[in-house]
Amino acid sequence: MGLVVQKFGGTSVADPERIREVADHVARTRRRGDQVVVVVSAMGKETDELLHLASQVSKTRPGREMDMLITAGERKATALLCMALHDLGVPADSFTGSQAGFITDTNHMNAKIVEVRAERVREAVDAGRVPVVGGAQGVSSNRDVTFLGRGGSDTTAVALAEALDGVCELYTDVSGVFTTDPRVVPVARRINRISFDEMLEMCAAGCPKPAMRAVEFARTHRVPLHVRSAFTWEPGTWIIEEEPDMEQAIVSGVIGDASEAKITLAGVPDQPGVAAKVFRALASAGVNVDMIVQNVSEAGITDISFTVPSEDLPTSVAITEGLASDIGANGVTSDASIAKVSLVGAGMKSHPGVAATVFETLAANDINIEMISTSAIRISCVVAGEQCDRAVTVLHSAFGLDDLTR
Ligand code: ADP
Ligand code: ASP
Ligand code: MG
Repeated sequence: MGLVVQKFGGTSVADPERIREVADHVARTRRRGDQVVVVVSAMGKETDELLHLASQVSKTRPGREMDMLITAGERKATALLCMALHDLGVPADSFTGSQAGFITDTNHMNAKIVEVRAERVREAVDAGRVPVVGGAQGVSSNRDVTFLGRGGSDTTAVALAEALDGVCELYTDVSGVFTTDPRVVPVARRINRISFDEMLEMCAAGCPKPAMRAVEFARTHRVPLHVRSAFTWEPGTWIIEEEPDMEQAIVSGVIGDASEAKITLAGVPDQPGVAAKVFRALASAGVNVDMIVQNVSEAGITDISFTVPSEDLPTSVAITEGLASDIGANGVTSDASIAKVSLVGAGMKSHPGVAATVFETLAANDINIEMISTSAIRISCVVAGEQCDRAVTVLHSAFGLDDLTR
């Protein structure tokens, strides 16, 4: 008998029927002899709807009130799931993040967990009950309700598994982590086992599942993570520490990410301190810059291009334009419709020719590369936004990842 934390994402609890199915899944796990702790997300698209509602009511949207509003979605789901569990004869208690002992910092909309005091949840488990905890929430050191940010329920589940010394299962609407988004490339394969390092690199490249912070937490605290389908009992993807015999695929996954935009600062004098000024100003405004490319200078003049999250584009353009004349640049242009296509694989480290194959494949399909960046186990190319899905599809196929039995 073990303890398992089962987290169900928004689609898994999207409507009353699915909530009853999740209750059935929990009841069966319990019959198998395991102790179960459940974490739930808000139903369906409720988080998006609450965010939209706030934007219709207010321009300022104070963080404290936003967190109170958004966490209500998860809270609703906990109570409904407990009711469905009671109907199946499973004793269950709902808990807010605060009741479950999630102490966070005071950073509204993106709070970090400081400590998990899981005694109440532990007592419920010991009493033979199923605690159902609202994901992505806690209480700050100022005693205000806090939201852990988008995808924060995955982090709640991992942190609870660590506090209770259990295994963490993340249930979602696909049966694990795939070689690429199975909704874009239907012949994508499920990855059975992947190392934390590769998974983190896939998350950083834009893979939405599991949430990156959850994977980081799991790696630091050595919590085994299992991503699987809420609708079937088939095994999913295990994210684990790298074992000595673990096969190092040359390419494990191909990820398309259309969530960034590109800014180019043209005609910049090639002298010390220019890049420092620009990127310090962006950092001070809280903008997370991703790729940066600077050209070789001609007659002491160069261009700098970089990518930022699309939602930060207006702020970033304003900051860069504000600095342009100060640093003697010619002007600023931006492109909101770009996509980043990345290949991730630990085997790349020891396998030459991966970059060449990427460039040849894109060229053969008439896809122009606007920027390139690499890490030891990743190659990313920026392409035009409308070519993203095609670029992912042809690269997936070129690296032999297509599941030909489908
Ligand atoms: P949840 O609501 O359960 O937390 P998300 O909606 O955040 O789940 O993420 C699941 C979705 O992620 C899937 O429906 C799938 O389309 C998408 N996805 C994109 N890339 C991948 C990938 N490489 N492997 C698995 N899912 C992926
Ligand atoms: N419901 C929140 C979101 O959609 C938190 C989560 O599900 O992880 O981001
Ligand atoms: Mg989610």
